[in-house]
Amino acid sequence: MEKMCKNYVIAIDGEAGTGKSTLAKNIAKKYGIVYMDTGAMYRCVTLAMLNENIRLDNIDEISKLLDTIKIDMTNENGEDKFYLNGEDVSTKIREKQVNDYVSQVSHIPVVRERMVNLQRELAKGKKIVMEGRDIGTNVFPNAEVKIYLVASAEERAKRRFEQNKEKGIDIPYEEILKNVIFRDNNDKSSSVGTLKKAEDAFEIDTTKLTMEEEEKIVVEKIREKVDLDA
Ligand code: C5P
Repeated sequence: MEKMCKNYVIAIDGEAGTGKSTLAKNIAKKYGIVYMDTGAMYRCVTLAMLNENIRLDNIDEISKLLDTIKIDMTNENGEDKFYLNGEDVSTKIREKQVNDYVSQVSHIPVVRERMVNLQRELAKGKKIVMEGRDIGTNVFPNAEVKIYLVASAEERAKRRFEQNKEKGIDIPYEEILKNVIFRDNNDKSSSVGTLKKAEDAFEIDTTKLTMEEEEKIVVEKIREKVDLDA
């Protein structure tokens, strides 16, 4: 197939803790393309709702909140930072309270609609690697490259536990395991159906792969479709 030099979207979807973020970040950095963590956007909305004590079924208040909140993503000295209304919430959005509610919040139709529109808007005119759950199925169904990652729940919880430790976030392993299983089941089964493999996505089981091996396989796949060096 002919390779494309123009703008493109690399969609990396999959369950929680499959290595999507590390992979997408590494690829973005190495090849000078834009990285977008869509899960962090849903996490920011969840934190904003928790801060304002807005219930999951209060659609009017949620809509008002979405009209006023400001979510900013920046990269400072190689570290991704998330700001909610000007406050650095990069750590807060990874904490237990947000973990517990983010899946339900992400299934509220008005939240999904706004976030998906924002993601499409932010990607305009860019070479971008976007990670999430529904990028290849819903946000960019025509994405040039679609990758879908899976791994055993235990391995995914272990990876999240290690990541949290590095970030100074203290959540016990058992708690994380319960949460990833809950979120994935919820994300797969809701009527919104956020977590689903696109028919044309390339699936990789990362359970037994190191990050380097995972990246090598994915980069080879990407190179079949787009020119990463252009
Ligand atoms: O990727 P991360 O684990 O940070 O995502 C948090 C949650 O946000 C997921 O469990 C899922 O419910 C939701 N999400 C989503 N669609 C995306 C990305 C994340 O519904 N594109």
